[in-house]
Amino acid sequence: MHIRFSTTLLATAAAAALLSLTTPALALDVATVKPQLEAEISADYPHLFDIYKDIHQHPELGHQETRTAAKLAGEMRALGFEVTEGVGGTGVVAIYHNGPGPMVMIRTELDALPMQEKTGLPYASEVKAQWEGHETYVAHSCGHDSHMAIWVGTAKAMLSMKDKWSGTVMFIGQPAEESVNGASGMIADGLFKRFGGKPDMAFALHVGPDPAGTVSYISGPYDTTADSMEITFVGRGAHGSMPEKSIDPIIMAARFIEDVQTVISREKDPMVFGVVTVGSVTSGSAGNIIPDDATLRGTIRTLDEKTRAKILDGVRRTANAVAAMSGAPAPQIKLGDTAYSVMNDPVLTEKTAAVLKQAMGDKVSQMARPIPASEDFSEFERAGVPGEYLTLGGMDPKTIAEDAKKGIPVPVNHSPLFTVLPEPTIKAGVEAMTLSVMNVMPPKA
Ligand SMILES: [Zn+2]
Ligand SMILES: [Zn+2]
Repeated sequence: MHIRFSTTLLATAAAAALLSLTTPALALDVATVKPQLEAEISADYPHLFDIYKDIHQHPELGHQETRTAAKLAGEMRALGFEVTEGVGGTGVVAIYHNGPGPMVMIRTELDALPMQEKTGLPYASEVKAQWEGHETYVAHSCGHDSHMAIWVGTAKAMLSMKDKWSGTVMFIGQPAEESVNGASGMIADGLFKRFGGKPDMAFALHVGPDPAGTVSYISGPYDTTADSMEITFVGRGAHGSMPEKSIDPIIMAARFIEDVQTVISREKDPMVFGVVTVGSVTSGSAGNIIPDDATLRGTIRTLDEKTRAKILDGVRRTANAVAAMSGAPAPQIKLGDTAYSVMNDPVLTEKTAAVLKQAMGDKVSQMARPIPASEDFSEFERAGVPGEYLTLGGMDPKTIAEDAKKGIPVPVNHSPLFTVLPEPTIKAGVEAMTLSVMNVMPPKA
């Protein structure tokens, strides 16, 4: 919970100094900082684009991000940061001390997705890698490549203006966000013990399909809780012409996929958010063989604990009932890898929104509601660090207009067609992140 102030506390000079860090009042002289920052970003952009393009072309899956981590570590060392690699696996921690003041964490993810990019970009990924026992294409279809360019750009901008702020910045490159266990891995490896303690606050952003260069914010819950789901139906294999000799696991999988949606439509309160998606079905090897098992992988999304418990129970009950119907043994049900909602600190949100609106005007807006995705930035918050997580628009406005005319949805994150328009996205990301961080730092004494 964030610090609240009593009137007696305000009487002390120390509390007054702290207050300047935590009230919505602007701490930053935007009129002076903005032109300098924008000139710096324009000068840095060609290099930031090179970083983006290189990482886009060389995506790596969660816990395999060795090349990506080494690249970011090299960039930060060249800027003068104290860099530690291998934190929680492939994680990177880069620290810069710039006098007394708060310690502020700025986080990027390092990982890409096990999917094929179909954007047709000249620098599209053609990389393949091993993932869960098979070969897969790999692509930055969530946009983490742009986050990494923004992260380096923010570090560079913070240092170019280090005469204007005082404190410590902790830039972290986190592995395996997509499997939502990279943040907890870094914390377990001493992220908040080995590098000068727990940060006073943390910032991150995520690119999405809004118009490139826009920024949006929300106070309180930013996204949903996600639980992973893996269910294996165990049947009995047989010849495809002799179904009576089998217990067909593909029939069980198909039944489950349909029936589990009644947990959403008939058991959950229709006014409350909740999603169950089966995103992967694995079974069988040939058309004339009834296989002996089928595995489904999926995700469960909720905004509140009561609905979450109800849906998890419904998923278990449906899977067991489907197996019982076929006379099969109980299925193997794994529900886990939970990512809790990211909760934006209300005071930090108000303060950040104020500085961004002043600097970026009508490009900054409030999000109407939390987004249905999820992510493990929440682990840093659950460890006691107040967090601020922003949405950055990354979509070419032309694409948005053309798709609207055609009546089709724009490609969202995790679509094989998802792509960011690099220049306005990276520039706005660096500007928003640098201003947000400088805004919580006292001026240099
Ligand atoms: Zn993603
Ligand atoms: Zn992502």
